[in-house]
Amino acid sequence: MNMGGHALLIPLPFQGHINPLMQLAWKLVSHGFLVTFLNTDFNHNRIMQANTRNPIHNNWDGIRMVSIPDGLPPDDKRTNIPNLLQALDNSMAPSVIKSLIEEINEREEENKITGIIVDAMTCFGLKAVADFYQIPLFAFHASLVANCTIRYFIPRLVSIGTLAQDGAPKEEKKVRYIPSMPPLRSGDLPWLFGGEKMFKRCIQMGESIKQIKRVLTNSFYELEGPVVEELSREVEVYPIGPLIPGEFLEGVKRSPSKALPSFWADDVECLEWLDKQSTQSVIYVSFGSLAVWSQIQVEEFAAGLEAALRPFLWVVRSGLMEGGKPTIPPGFLEHVRERICIVSWAPQLQVLSHPCIACFVTHCGWNSVQESITMGVPMLCSPHFIDQFLNRTYIVDVWKIGLPLESNKDGIIEKGEIARAVDRLLVGEDGAEIRKHVTKLMRSSRDVVKEGGSSFNSYSKFLHQMKKQLLD
Ligand code: UDP
Repeated sequence: MNMGGHALLIPLPFQGHINPLMQLAWKLVSHGFLVTFLNTDFNHNRIMQANTRNPIHNNWDGIRMVSIPDGLPPDDKRTNIPNLLQALDNSMAPSVIKSLIEEINEREEENKITGIIVDAMTCFGLKAVADFYQIPLFAFHASLVANCTIRYFIPRLVSIGTLAQDGAPKEEKKVRYIPSMPPLRSGDLPWLFGGEKMFKRCIQMGESIKQIKRVLTNSFYELEGPVVEELSREVEVYPIGPLIPGEFLEGVKRSPSKALPSFWADDVECLEWLDKQSTQSVIYVSFGSLAVWSQIQVEEFAAGLEAALRPFLWVVRSGLMEGGKPTIPPGFLEHVRERICIVSWAPQLQVLSHPCIACFVTHCGWNSVQESITMGVPMLCSPHFIDQFLNRTYIVDVWKIGLPLESNKDGIIEKGEIARAVDRLLVGEDGAEIRKHVTKLMRSSRDVVKEGGSSFNSYSKFLHQMKKQLLD
């Protein structure tokens, strides 16, 4: 029998949800657990194929990588998020997860599943399965506790009339929806993307968390203490972030000790290019794994980066641009050849921890934001969807560790705005203050996971719950 037990981890099938849950898997392994990590077949194959340089195995030092179908046809590109999530409701229904557990338990008398951790946005209804086996179940929320909290309180906001029945804000002006959160713009509400399907899913997520009663979050208390307190009056909240490889929290530039489960192969040559730049000179530009930009927006970005007159490293992922093919404007590469590095997927943690990085132009995906904080890199914010507008509000208004890139009336961030914001951040007085704030939060993000820190303590409590029935 494995002394720590055997945990089943079920992420949402997106890069930004798999990455932190995989880090939690490694933490559990280091505390004596065996982990079964359940991906969709589609993502499992991508991860296996992308990591040929640093291979990931099905049986991986205490983590078993298993997969099941996601319910979509093989030729589906899986870019329609609400559709993918809906298909998962069938393909990962509680009965399917129960059969998987049954199969593992029958095969391995000594290594039966002893606990489940499931992404809060999927696999609703697992409480009955956990109760059947009398094992602990935790919901895992991959972003800010604020995002979890505002979704949790949707029914209350509708009942008091702050939100319409369909989740639309009643007011265009800024509103303090939740007492422990800052006032939000109507566009900050994280369910506005994806229409009715996403709104319903957010409500289901809240109901599911209420039923499960315990939620792990990839955030830390010092970032959003008041909102952690507010949600804790409803359910047990365990902020255990930042869930990133420990070696990056020690502030040294090196490869991760374990391969990361990326969907694309890292282009490590950019690290050599970075080594040749001056300290804190490079603008890092990346919009994560899901965002799609219009051709006109890409052209404005290219022109803005050219006008910023600094070296930059730009991730142009396949699928970043509408219509498929990346189309960098003609002539652009010629003009900036001396100071540009374009890659299709960056080793982002190594990049952000590199001393030559000056700032991060980001889509404000939660992992990117937290990684930037832990490396002390200030941000320029260009959110795309879901929780990213809310994250921007925290970055700009609450923590004051970045600046917004404002759009024009057509929703486009113009080149002049990009060049001006880079200057304001890197040479202006605002920039000096922002760097001070981000350095302070960086220290805090590294302290919280050390013995006695808030995330360390939350994780210890969680671990105790996961092991409790093994000790009884
Ligand atoms: N990432 C990476 N290389 C890239 C771009 C992103 O390794 O070129 C990683 C990044 O470090 C983060 C994840 O992919 O862990 C993206 O998650 P995030 O929440 O930032 O955004 P999403 O992709 O979910 O929109």
